[in-house]
Amino acid sequence: MPATEMQQLVSLCQRRGFIFQSAEIYGGMKGFYDFGPMGVELKNNIKQSWWKAMVYQRDDMEGIDGCTIAPAVVFQQSGHTETFTDPLTECRDCKSRMRTDKMKDPTVCENCGSKNLMEPRNFNLLFPVQVGAVEGAQSLAYLRGETAQHIFINFKNVTDSTNRRPPFGIAQMGKMYRNEIIARNFIFRVREFEAMEMEFFVPPGTDEKWHEYWLEERLKWWESIGVPRNKININDKPKEELAHYSKRTFDLEYLYPHGYDEIEGIANRTDYDLGSHSKNQDELNLTATPITNTRSNAKLTAQNAEGQHYVPFVIEPAAGVERAMLAVLCEAYTEEVLENGDTRTVLKFKPHLAPIKAAVLPLARNKPELVALAQSVKNTLQKLGLGRIVLDTSGNVGKAYRKHDEVGTPLCITVDFESLEDGQVTVRDRDSMAQIRLPIAALAQHLRGIVEDAA
Ligand code: ATP
Repeated sequence: MPATEMQQLVSLCQRRGFIFQSAEIYGGMKGFYDFGPMGVELKNNIKQSWWKAMVYQRDDMEGIDGCTIAPAVVFQQSGHTETFTDPLTECRDCKSRMRTDKMKDPTVCENCGSKNLMEPRNFNLLFPVQVGAVEGAQSLAYLRGETAQHIFINFKNVTDSTNRRPPFGIAQMGKMYRNEIIARNFIFRVREFEAMEMEFFVPPGTDEKWHEYWLEERLKWWESIGVPRNKININDKPKEELAHYSKRTFDLEYLYPHGYDEIEGIANRTDYDLGSHSKNQDELNLTATPITNTRSNAKLTAQNAEGQHYVPFVIEPAAGVERAMLAVLCEAYTEEVLENGDTRTVLKFKPHLAPIKAAVLPLARNKPELVALAQSVKNTLQKLGLGRIVLDTSGNVGKAYRKHDEVGTPLCITVDFESLEDGQVTVRDRDSMAQIRLPIAALAQHLRGIVEDAA
């Protein structure tokens, strides 16, 4: 049964080393989280699974890794300095700040119930930074609020160096930053997070077909990491809610413990971004004064079969790694009442996402020959390169099983006295708790089957 209360996950994640409040020893920083020994593995495995599906298993994709800071002009041309905003109100009585589009009643303070609220104003989510020692408009830059812009501004570099022509895509994963008015719901809404974004460039006129195609592809991927279709609502966003660049957007909304909320946006960004970066600022009709005179001078176009230049349309599936992690944790979280009345908590991750693939446990910690055999089993499995394999020498197998259930380790391998005689070990399956005896020589294939078949 998936987690229904966020608190179940928050305490498990803290206790078992998945997710910690950032700067916790100084009281913590709202909207910022650090990932512990288990969290970093889960996060990397989710990202790896995305990269595999989006890049390695396709013939029409390239990857890039752009900077997380860009000069102000990039976000000015993209429209973000003007429109990357959320409506902010403040309570005159308790001073709480709120995002009015997420309030049940935008006339009543969520904190104290007062109706003494300020008129909403647009609050820009970009974090400004000064680059270099000299402060001023010329050195103004921003932490990126979406990774997409570095894909657009590298469009020509990628097409020139790879000879790609639409339809093809550029994928990127990496950090981004949004100064959210309120960070809430654990890692659902944070101020620093990672994105898995892909821009798929297509000839105009074929964009709607590709948009539907990517919706289907993305749903398949969510299913492959254990987030089922029947838990995802497809919100074909109403026109008035579309971002400034979008012709149509499908928001995939997962049923989180706090309700249905966005896990991925799949937008038809038209030729907006490549077009904007090909324009000079005086053509853009900006209401704000340009803060730098830099011009792109680029023509971000592709050529059709007749050699004519055109600006490609773009389909963008954009998902957040933290929101993916939260959904995967929710789906994996299971509490089971055992025959003896105890409750066991287990994270039933798909094996390719599990932070630890197998734990090797010597039955007793003070028997050097058992520990040595367990160590050699661990070394052999480690060499397979499937992910983390650990040796747990606590000598308390029951306790180790409980711990590994809680971090979602698919296999526990116990080395006992008989193993020294017959070269066999006990292999316990996380989900069924069934135990089988296997020859040590068969372990590699067994583990490979479990981890790779699920990937
Ligand atoms: P929301 O409406 O929830 O603020 P958004 O529509 O602004 O989200 P997008 O701009 O479409 O989000 O961003 C792409 C993806 O990045 C989202 O689907 C989500 O998975 C992730 N994301 C966006 N904002 C955050 C955040 N503050 N914390 C964690 N992940 C986020």
